[in-house]
Amino acid sequence: MPKPALMGNWKMNSDLSSAVGFVEEFFKHISGIEGKIRELFDVVIFPQFPLIKPIVDSVEAGARWSDLLRVGAQDIQPEDRGAFTGAVNGICLKSVGVSSVIIGHSERRWFFGDSDSLVNAKLSTTINMNFEPVLCIGEPGEIRDKGEQDSFVLAQLETAFDSVKLDSISAISLAYEPVWSIGTGRNATEAEIAPMIELIRGFATKAGFPGGGANLRILYGGSVNPQNASELYSIDGVDGFLVGGASLDALSFSAILDAMAGEGE
Ligand code: PEP
Repeated sequence: MPKPALMGNWKMNSDLSSAVGFVEEFFKHISGIEGKIRELFDVVIFPQFPLIKPIVDSVEAGARWSDLLRVGAQDIQPEDRGAFTGAVNGICLKSVGVSSVIIGHSERRWFFGDSDSLVNAKLSTTINMNFEPVLCIGEPGEIRDKGEQDSFVLAQLETAFDSVKLDSISAISLAYEPVWSIGTGRNATEAEIAPMIELIRGFATKAGFPGGGANLRILYGGSVNPQNASELYSIDGVDGFLVGGASLDALSFSAILDAMAGEGE
């Protein structure tokens, strides 16, 4: 079973100096509990593409910290190379030290038109290239209002994993992110999250994930912050978080880690 994880999706925020400043600040804040963090969690941030390499370099420059913070990409193009202006392929992501890739975020699906079949192709490439996929799934508000969230999320999972080679999955994160909770300050409750975790685990078993889902962690995402992290993390089956807004500030991001480690209580 992979360790629980805290992942920060920076979206289209930050720049070179604030990104490097984040890394310094983050390590300062976790100094003292770094051993516990190393033992208990994987921590990954997903900056804009041009910031990936400077952040990797700045993490590696501090030998004491180099295994404490990984860097991921917010997207990937499924093809190896070619005429795809504006896109970034896995070969390039590998060359700059990316470990994980977010796929199917609701903002990609909505603003960039990432269709179910494109999500499926991106997932396949990510797994074949041995990145850890962080696949986002979750229903919009109107679907939950109609009580159709289970069939909606199940359909997202089924199309995303259609014909994907599951035996090569070494670690995968599925992030349950109800769209109505992203950036709204309204996190989902235990009553809403717990059945979804059961549904996702059930899917993993039925779909034939290796070891019945032993390599799968299920993250929750949607308005997680230092105040609600401890309660959300105590929900059975929540293996960590994908955090947007609160991941931009090193202090609030590390405070979420504190809460997960039981240090913030
Ligand atoms: C996200 O964008 O994945 C997210 C969970 O955002 P926020 O934490 O800001 O709701």
